[in-house]
Amino acid sequence: MSAERRDGDSLEKVAEEVRKCTLCPLCKSRTHAVPGEGNPRAKLMFIGEGPGYHEDRQGRPFVGAAGSFLNEMLSSVGLEREDVFITNVVKCRPPQNRDPQPAEIQACSRYLERQVQMIDPAVIVTLGRHSMAKYFPNERISKIHGQPRRIGGRTVVPLLHPAAALHKPELKQTELEDFARLPKILEEALARQSGEDDEGSQEMDQLKLF
Ligand code: SF4
Repeated sequence: MSAERRDGDSLEKVAEEVRKCTLCPLCKSRTHAVPGEGNPRAKLMFIGEGPGYHEDRQGRPFVGAAGSFLNEMLSSVGLEREDVFITNVVKCRPPQNRDPQPAEIQACSRYLERQVQMIDPAVIVTLGRHSMAKYFPNERISKIHGQPRRIGGRTVVPLLHPAAALHKPELKQTELEDFARLPKILEEALARQSGEDDEGSQEMDQLKLF
């Protein structure tokens, strides 16, 4: 996890707060909250919907069957879980794996926002329609999956949830094909970021002349 930032915030602090959080009713039914895990300096950040049964038991994201498929997709593009950061829009399991409700997503967004700010990934990948809706409200995942967009100075890619392929095996190939585009999307996002950094430092140099 990350070192403490200048403002005193850290991923560890977020995780500690999440484990004690009672901001929404999901705290009542959880076994373990699931703050998220991975590389604190990840260039790729994955945001799923919410913990399921196995995640709730272990306090870790994507450890069930959908997690195995996510691992498989990561390794298909030469990545390990340790290379990326993985979390969810809600950090506690909705009972019977029901959809997270808007008020729960809203209550939990304070943690996600801090995680995104601290990790500062070049690319955010949303997994499933509930995390997609955070960045692409009123869009349909069946129409926009796999298509990157620039949102708030960051590249965001909506992907189908890995569990979708478990329920509908015909989606597995679609998911693998969307995933296969991620390295190129990341490369372009990083190139763009370094171009913007260069422009920023040139502007600073020009300012120093005055
Ligand atoms: S889901 Fe989020 S807001 Fe709700 S209790 Fe868990 S950590 Fe708190």
